[in-house]
Amino acid sequence: MIRHQNETPPPEDIYPIDEWNIVETQFNPELMGQTETIFATANGYMGWRGNFPEGKPSVQNGTFINRFYESWPITYGEAAFGFAKTGQTMVNVTDGRTIKLYVDDEPFDLARANVAKFERRLDMRNGTLERDILWETPGGLLVEISSKSMISFVHRHLGVIYYSVKVINSDAPLAIASIVRGTQENPVSEGDPRQSRGFIKKVLLPEQDYCNEKRVILNHITDASKMRLACGIDHEIETDCPVQYRSRSEPDYGEVVFDVHAKLGRPINLIKYVTYHTSRTADALELKVRSERSLDKAAGTGLYTLLAEQRNYLDDFWARSDVSVEGNGEFRIRRPREVQQALRWNLFQIIQSSARVDGSGVGAKGLTGQGYEGHYFWDSDIYVMPFLIYTNPQIAKNLLLFRYSMLDKARERAEQVNQRGALFPWRTINGEEASAYYAAGTAQYHINADIMYSMKKYVAATDDQEFLRTKGAEMLVETARLWFDLGFYSEQKNGHFCINGVTGPDEYNTVVNNNLYTNMMARENLQFAARTVADLKNEDSENYANLVRRTKLQESEITNWQEAADQMYLPFDEERGIHLQDDGFLQRKPFDFENTPKDKYPLLLYHHPLVIYRSMVIKQADVVLAMFLLGNRFSVEQKRKNFYFYEPLTTGDSSLSACIQSILAAEVGDPELAIRYGLSALLMDLADIGGNVKDGCHIASMGGSWMAAVFGFAGFSDYDGIYAFNPRLPKEVKHLSFHLMLHRQRLHIDLHTDCTIYTLERDGTGLKIFHKGSEVELEPGTALKLE
Ligand code: BGC
Repeated sequence: MIRHQNETPPPEDIYPIDEWNIVETQFNPELMGQTETIFATANGYMGWRGNFPEGKPSVQNGTFINRFYESWPITYGEAAFGFAKTGQTMVNVTDGRTIKLYVDDEPFDLARANVAKFERRLDMRNGTLERDILWETPGGLLVEISSKSMISFVHRHLGVIYYSVKVINSDAPLAIASIVRGTQENPVSEGDPRQSRGFIKKVLLPEQDYCNEKRVILNHITDASKMRLACGIDHEIETDCPVQYRSRSEPDYGEVVFDVHAKLGRPINLIKYVTYHTSRTADALELKVRSERSLDKAAGTGLYTLLAEQRNYLDDFWARSDVSVEGNGEFRIRRPREVQQALRWNLFQIIQSSARVDGSGVGAKGLTGQGYEGHYFWDSDIYVMPFLIYTNPQIAKNLLLFRYSMLDKARERAEQVNQRGALFPWRTINGEEASAYYAAGTAQYHINADIMYSMKKYVAATDDQEFLRTKGAEMLVETARLWFDLGFYSEQKNGHFCINGVTGPDEYNTVVNNNLYTNMMARENLQFAARTVADLKNEDSENYANLVRRTKLQESEITNWQEAADQMYLPFDEERGIHLQDDGFLQRKPFDFENTPKDKYPLLLYHHPLVIYRSMVIKQADVVLAMFLLGNRFSVEQKRKNFYFYEPLTTGDSSLSACIQSILAAEVGDPELAIRYGLSALLMDLADIGGNVKDGCHIASMGGSWMAAVFGFAGFSDYDGIYAFNPRLPKEVKHLSFHLMLHRQRLHIDLHTDCTIYTLERDGTGLKIFHKGSEVELEPGTALKLE
């Protein structure tokens, strides 16, 4: 049941349908918070909210660097042993973007200007954000302003802005001030726990400033976390109008001002290069030198080559990752081309949040806003990784390497909560647990199994045994240890292995016993660990010896894990014939859905947590998620029973729910519901379904909308490296096609109403798949058409 959705107009009323662009044809001040998110650009390392080049008007003029955070002591009214101690918040950093324009001393201010033309375009093939304006000044001058900006996918530390001005009805004096500013807004939350905590005090303290010719570099350091940052700007100006420039810097501010005598109809083109470098260990001078090097390199490459490189990067991305949809008429009230546009934008936001993470994670909001404080959750492992594994495996590997880099911190965390092995933090930036609310935070031990689940899929799809043997095995040992230590053989449950006092994915039922999802995922984790370690012992004595040395592994542990997995308790209600979300689920008080108006969702904003916890109400897919991830462990009939039991109890108050419900609805043969949920996941942000897109995109739902298309409607499944398709296109879809990388070969899947065409790339080696239950061999370079 979708209970909470905002009644928003279809996005096409705001963003006209265009399959490769998000376009805005008028300035919408009342939508500025949301458009700052929608038009955000990023490359996984740095991100710019979709602000205007002039910096104002804005709701939040935001620049974010992945993993650049301020820390702060978490203060508890009543603390307890093992509570997380230090908070981490992604900082809105030095603004290197702003360009101010003055024509005949009149500042251009979009909020007040008389604008005869306005258009903004996020171009998803070129990877640029463009804006075109025709401004009539109070003195009657007509000024064309065109800008184009991008954050480079190729050059990790670089953003570029092209700003072009032309006075079309007269000569006029004008000034263009290009600015770099240290002080940025880090707004304090308005009481919504999903927002960022924010800071009242100044977070970035100036260290040094530098100015030379058209170049300015500011160095800052965060007050408490002591992270350093340098932001450098440099410029080129192209014009045949007379121009002079001056520049200056001070600790928190720098500018390069161009005074131009604009001649009628002659363009003045400014190119601004913006670079960021950050570090915990390097000193200010070193970061300044790195900035100089990046700026030199950018200027040496030049705008046109940078734009061409960006295009190439994205051509390659789309060739691997595009999902193309054609409709048969309308999808309820949505048009097929709108669905296509939204799908591409979702995928574009995923690549923007992950392309250049190189050693960091993907935050719940990517780099589009400060919601959830820039933290990494399980969102990336369960919702974003599938897309990356099957389309961009190198990025998937980077994210796994990042998880591996956190293993020592996870070991420490396990110790802090009195457990053996390793416990990955529920939310974090630097690897330490940053969740101050253990019931819906630390208690989500399932994150351990989620990470191992996505690693298993990665290894199966890429055959990257090297990763598994050198790093994966170590994570498996430590996570399996945690599960074995956390659970116990309970006499109450006929000697089965039980895991009590945990929170599953559903945050409306916390600290429960035997959460089905957790137990099933832990079982996979234990089995995978036992198998991998046993294989290593038999086949790779060198890596096995390393593993034993690093983890002090004892052989008896392998047997323990296997036994615990075999004996894992899975709660089931015989009377109703359903799996139970947890032992106590049926004992909860029925929730009064009838008398809860739509505007009282999400429930977490209107009810004390205890009211929610004692009610039979669900925030997000939990058993249903287990049925998707571990679909081969349930019969179709069982899935149907469970699905319809949990369906009316699920509020979908988390954006992580709709996509999963869509997949299961498709699987149990409910295309109508599958479409409803699918659209909800797909349009979560473009239609602002959750009402909080201003705080950033819901990256998990974006990955989820890809999963709804691929796992839901194309019926793809991957269990233990066996790839199967069970296409079930709803009547609204005429054609759906996409690529998957399976065993390092690219497979094109082309679904039509009456057939599916599989084409394995020419230089592949051959692939075995299942189509509607029958095994087929695919030959490289040949298209196979099946009914
Ligand atoms: C969800 C979590 C999710 C987090 C960040 C919460 O509302 O319940 O599952 O990890 O948001 O997206």
